[in-house]
Amino acid sequence: MSSLITGGCACGAVRYESRGEIEFSFHCHCRKCQRATGAGHASAFALPINDVELTGKIVYHEQIADSGHATYSGFCPACGSPLVSKTDQYPDRIYINAATLDEPSIFRPTFLVFEGMAQPWDPIDVRLRQP
Ligand SMILES: [Zn+2]
Ligand SMILES: [Zn+2]
Repeated sequence: MSSLITGGCACGAVRYESRGEIEFSFHCHCRKCQRATGAGHASAFALPINDVELTGKIVYHEQIADSGHATYSGFCPACGSPLVSKTDQYPDRIYINAATLDEPSIFRPTFLVFEGMAQPWDPIDVRLRQP
């Protein structure tokens, strides 16, 4: 899939677009994603960072992941929407939160991350469980 991908934050101050090919799409149930999104899990997809054109100001919150690598959660300072994340572990990649897409229905998650950390009120999508 290499059609134009567009999206942005709730207030419109930050926009992105990409003609890159989505590398993979997933739900992550880890506590960091829960806190960063305010929801039960993050739904995100990965793109080559050089294929993504971001406009507007993004502020990055840095923290150290369990892997020991720095991760950066990017949000719009005007409206607070969590938009993207990056990690030193894979510097060529950017992860974009699915609900920021202009057409969120194109998101096709194929696997779960940290399903053991899922909250009881946010049941995992069992169709995506690895056999
Ligand atoms: Zn905004
Ligand atoms: Zn996570």
